[in-house]
Amino acid sequence: MSLSIAKNIIRDLKRNGYDAYLVGGVVRDFLMKQKFNDIDITTKAKPFEVMKLFKAVPSGIKYGTVTVLYDNVPFEITTFRKDGPTTDFRHPDSVIYSDDVKDDVLRRDFTINGILMDERQNIYDYVGGQDDIHHGIIRTIGNPDERFNEDALRILRALYFESKLGFVIEEETKRSMERNRHLIEMLAMERVHTEMIKILKGKHAKKALQTMIDTGIHQMLPGLEKGILHTVTLPEMPFVDTFFAMAFTLNQGVIPSSWTFSNVHKHKYLKASEVALKYPNHIPDEALYQYGLEICLLANKVNFNLGKVKYLSKKITETYESLPVKSELDLALTSNDILNVLNKKPGAWFGQLKKEMVLEILGKRLKNTKEDLIKYLESKKV
Ligand code: ATP
Ligand code: MG
Repeated sequence: MSLSIAKNIIRDLKRNGYDAYLVGGVVRDFLMKQKFNDIDITTKAKPFEVMKLFKAVPSGIKYGTVTVLYDNVPFEITTFRKDGPTTDFRHPDSVIYSDDVKDDVLRRDFTINGILMDERQNIYDYVGGQDDIHHGIIRTIGNPDERFNEDALRILRALYFESKLGFVIEEETKRSMERNRHLIEMLAMERVHTEMIKILKGKHAKKALQTMIDTGIHQMLPGLEKGILHTVTLPEMPFVDTFFAMAFTLNQGVIPSSWTFSNVHKHKYLKASEVALKYPNHIPDEALYQYGLEICLLANKVNFNLGKVKYLSKKITETYESLPVKSELDLALTSNDILNVLNKKPGAWFGQLKKEMVLEILGKRLKNTKEDLIKYLESKKV
């Protein structure tokens, strides 16, 4: 569907005298008969010319990119360009528009991402990308040292494509990644973080993590080093959450604050590592109550991956479901009931008492019935 819209965009551009092609992941994934993520079109038309033809927003105008939305699907249209020199190891300081699509291909990162396709599905491959897809190879377009110095994120992108596609990184490219790994420190952590998550989500993540270790790139990822070393020896690949919870646990619950976790994620990994460290063998009901099911399941996965316990997701879920109380709201007496029985005014003691009752119930020393709770309170009076 979106491919036919993209073809129509190309037809429209051509009708107006502008050469245009599909390029990047969409062509690679199309040739591999896989689902593609997003659609990139490259054209001779300048951004203002594209904006005259379509309802487009200047999404990355500094680099010649505008976005056209059809049914909420974005189509990124970028003008053929050459990239100027870079001083920040990430972005070109300036870009120069070109009339020649070959220039645009040569500024792209990997051969498999440099293949062009027109609206009739004719392929134009100036960089040997089809061959590399055929042989499952990730190789920079041009000299890898130069390409990684222009943009160090490409080092992590190579690992991402390895993880996503299961391809092998070509030897020269790989050696260059190792040589230039220190450049990763020049990147904004936010970008490194995003790329790391993409790497972890791939079907072949373990393979990519092994390459990370082989090239010493894991040393550039503070606090994740142990997690990465550990993960490659696992029989099963953990999901993103398990990986990070494991990294926190292996670092005794702390991880450099430069990682840009959202507060929600950070809290989750911190708490899961707390449970994993505190209860290496068995998670008691009190902990299930206190931390909740999600955190405890994550902690169990961590300790399972560390070889300390069995995988107990089902059992832990069942135990959680059958807890007599999951929150203070589940107490058989309301706050008012309690105050009435004790004939007291609310104060600091009140929260403490409710906690006590919950612990008694969880410890099976007290039943969560009105009757029993009243008896318990009466006994407190004297
Ligand atoms: P995905 O399946 O993740 O979308 P993709 O190859 O489409 O993979 P994008 O990040 O969507 O990757 O980028 C689209 C295209 O833009 C790439 O295929 C590549 O040609 C080019 N590109 C993206 N990032 C870079 C970069 N850092 N350096 C050079 N070219 C890049
Ligand atoms: Mg893409």
